[in-house]
Amino acid sequence: MGYVKVAYKNIFRILDCSSEFPHGWNEFVDKIAKYHNLIIKSSKNKCHCTNCNHDFISTKKINEEVKCPNCKNKYLIKRSNLRYYDFKDYLSILDRINNTFVIRYFELKTVIDAKHEHHSSVVEFAREIVTNSWYQHMYVNERVSKCQCNIAIYHCTGPYIDEKKWRQYTRSYSLIDYSIVFPNNLRKLLKNTEYKYSCIWDIAKHSTYIDLKKLLEDNNDYAINRIERLAKMKLYNLALEASQFSYSGTFQEIFGVSKDYYPFMKRNNITYTQLKILQLLKEKNIKKIRYLENFVKYGGSTDDLEEIAEYISLNRFIRYSKMHHRNVKTYLYKDYLRFAKLLGFDLKNNRYAFPKNLIEEHDKLEKQFRINGTSIIKKAIIRRSKELSINKFHDNKFIILPAPTLKSLQDESKQQSNCVRTYAEKYADGKCDIYFMRDIKKPKNSLVTVEVKNNKIVQSRIKYNYDPNEKQLKFLDKWENTVLNKVA
Ligand SMILES: [Zn+2]
Repeated sequence: MGYVKVAYKNIFRILDCSSEFPHGWNEFVDKIAKYHNLIIKSSKNKCHCTNCNHDFISTKKINEEVKCPNCKNKYLIKRSNLRYYDFKDYLSILDRINNTFVIRYFELKTVIDAKHEHHSSVVEFAREIVTNSWYQHMYVNERVSKCQCNIAIYHCTGPYIDEKKWRQYTRSYSLIDYSIVFPNNLRKLLKNTEYKYSCIWDIAKHSTYIDLKKLLEDNNDYAINRIERLAKMKLYNLALEASQFSYSGTFQEIFGVSKDYYPFMKRNNITYTQLKILQLLKEKNIKKIRYLENFVKYGGSTDDLEEIAEYISLNRFIRYSKMHHRNVKTYLYKDYLRFAKLLGFDLKNNRYAFPKNLIEEHDKLEKQFRINGTSIIKKAIIRRSKELSINKFHDNKFIILPAPTLKSLQDESKQQSNCVRTYAEKYADGKCDIYFMRDIKKPKNSLVTVEVKNNKIVQSRIKYNYDPNEKQLKFLDKWENTVLNKVA
């Protein structure tokens, strides 16, 4: 059991002695408890709203959401034989005692019983001291179970539970990161502190679940300025991830999309994950972004989507996913696409891009690949080199051509002492293009190795990974401007 430092014990005692909550707290709790309601559906489409007790008719199905025509709130529909249902939300209040920030955590729990009446209660169960050390200073009271296997928060009252008895939370996994922060007292508390311009109060007002500790622990000017700038731009959800954004640069450099996306980003208060998807989708369509976001929420990652986008457009991916009722595992699909591309299937054709049975097709291609990997790559490189040969170019001094074979890559690596041979697979499946630039009189000898992505030169290196000289760069410039850009 964790020991509580004397200084913190005093802080907790001060908090325990005052039973007063900041002004507006009760209204804040009530507002969230309003979401904790259901629509109970019985025979003949009869619906009952547990919030306002209004009865109405709706043909919507069980587990869908419906708007109550009386209170105008949207709730989930459940069957009338429902015996028990509960809702839980974590709320928090910031406090400042002896110049130390304390976050107090509460659980708001609502139970809908067999009579379909709802009972809400809110109890405090944890306190966290904000420090800028990586070590967490989290304390819990007797409402938190001591059982090691899972965390339960008791809402009952009685002699067994002492709400004022605090112990350190010592489990290896985090107790709570995100909570709905009470916004009304933040501005006043942060006045005369380093956060006075941070606008954290606006962020709390406009975002639902936030990691307040994370916002407060980086108390250097640099971190606070970044939070402030994003909050002032009204990109509140992005402000929660302020450390992901550089402070200087153009809009495009900071957000990875051009400035004309800004009104869309602001209007939808987009999250960091949504921004990552927007960068790939490049379409101001929040419905599509939310659809894709579900893949990230349930087991996938934005990296998966990024890889998929390298082979087919995300709009086509959405189409494929809808054909399979969203039941597409992105980590399998991205590998399937990679194998398919390496095997030379035309991914513009839905027959290959949209496998009927993804798992089966994935396993089939993977097996082929395991057995004949090298020869598949060899063939794929020959195919790529033919595709890219339209970009061949020369003047009276130099020539540039796509790497023709796997062997040529290995040979280039040896001559140049670089690692271009390790690009073989990426080159073979179309993620990058590799070109050899050579002296027109000595076309067999390596000179400059060039990597191209999206018709732009991303790397050009002479022997030992040095930069090319001015003449060579001039030739590459000319090639990029006259040949590559024309293809785009
Ligand atoms: Zn209602």
